[in-house]
Amino acid sequence: MKYNLDQLNTYAKRYGFIYQGSEIYGGLANTWDYGPLGVNLKNNIKSFWWKKFVSQNKLNVGIDSSILLNPKTWEATGHLSSFKDPLMDCKECKTRYRADELIKRSTNSSVDADGWDYKKMFDYIGEHKIKCPNCGASNFTDIREFNLMFKTQQGVTSDNNDVYLRPETAQGIFLNFKNILRTSRRKIPFGIGQIGKSFRNEITPGNYVFRTREFEQMELEFFCKPGTEIDWFKFWKEFSYQFLLDCGLKEDSIKFYNHSKEKLAFYSNATTDILFAYPWGYDELWGISSRTDYDLKSHQELSGENLEYLDPQTNDTYLPYVIEPSLGIERLFLAILLNNLEEEELGDNKTRTLLRINKNLAPYQVNVLPLVKKYHNELAEEVYDLLLKNFTAFYDENGNIGRRYRRADAIGTPYCITIDNQTQEDETVTVRDRDSMDQIRVKISELTDYLKKLL
Ligand code: ATP
Repeated sequence: MKYNLDQLNTYAKRYGFIYQGSEIYGGLANTWDYGPLGVNLKNNIKSFWWKKFVSQNKLNVGIDSSILLNPKTWEATGHLSSFKDPLMDCKECKTRYRADELIKRSTNSSVDADGWDYKKMFDYIGEHKIKCPNCGASNFTDIREFNLMFKTQQGVTSDNNDVYLRPETAQGIFLNFKNILRTSRRKIPFGIGQIGKSFRNEITPGNYVFRTREFEQMELEFFCKPGTEIDWFKFWKEFSYQFLLDCGLKEDSIKFYNHSKEKLAFYSNATTDILFAYPWGYDELWGISSRTDYDLKSHQELSGENLEYLDPQTNDTYLPYVIEPSLGIERLFLAILLNNLEEEELGDNKTRTLLRINKNLAPYQVNVLPLVKKYHNELAEEVYDLLLKNFTAFYDENGNIGRRYRRADAIGTPYCITIDNQTQEDETVTVRDRDSMDQIRVKISELTDYLKKLL
């Protein structure tokens, strides 16, 4: 059985992955809070990315820059003038749409209007009599521009203090390019990775956590010599794809969408989206773009700071070209659940909910269970304390053991450790494997090493 979004929402709420935001006040549209399991999974995804792209990667270093940047940043990059979406309303029911999304939706994604000028979109909607998905009327307003950046004020006075919540983490990297070059003693080619929150005042957020106004990105800006960028672009495309497979995504759920020349942003000479098969169809999970020297050049021009690189071998100076793989955590979170959650047939008309997630991403690595609370809880607590030193562990003592195993399977816990009468006699526990459900006995004194090998 494949989970649809409603079923996934019910599952995620029931077990404590994701709750509706501000629920006791009736919610705040399209905001989501991550519960105990959700925050563990998110942190595991982030630390896995950080390891692969930064801390265990010879090529890259990391940064954690501010969310609020000098507003000139957004003037330089063009976000203030052109980070806009085409907004249109249905005149009958007043539902608000992004015009390119409306076209995409009504053509089952066969027409991609992203990047079209507004007249072309408006004409297409009129000529094809595209209907409002909400009320069925074909009566829309003109298209207006809508800037996606959240504006706020810094400080107590209100004159000229406008600042923006960053719509991407990337610019904090470009602003620090020279600092990092100097202090990390790196040579081109090298990259800078960052994980952090970004904000976009999306016109039509939705599809659960797929499109929200507050989200987290994992971005790499990889700096290389002009002329080598297409080779690096291919390298990071392949590397990113492999990362998704390592996260447990299935090959047949992922595909590449290479942007044609006409669709490329004016500063890019190659862009690929990695698409995932979400319940509503293939949609963007990861954007990978070769951005030339656009960002560094724009900041150099507006700031007056020289951001060129001096090649120590050839004494040439140049502005490096940049490859940017940019991934949204929530979109990957959703893809991991969708690809790994199943109702497994056990025979005799029995099934179990199983999250067959990569063991290193599982919200809990081990679950400690006294077989009978009354008799085994003291020893079980000791084992729990022991395992907490090395693993993310969960203690569960209520209800019958079968039910507790099912719950552990449903949240993807790879190993259940059960303490029973025999534990009192020979100091062994059972270790139950989530996928095979096989159990073996292991001495408590050897348990940590045993589990370390498995995990
Ligand atoms: P879309 O076309 O879906 O709006 P985009 O092309 O504008 O996405 P990018 O600017 O390339 O997205 O951002 C890089 C990545 O950040 C995306 O591939 C996605 O994973 C994530 N992302 C972007 N916008 C959102 C959002 N509103 N909510 C959640 N994740 C997002």
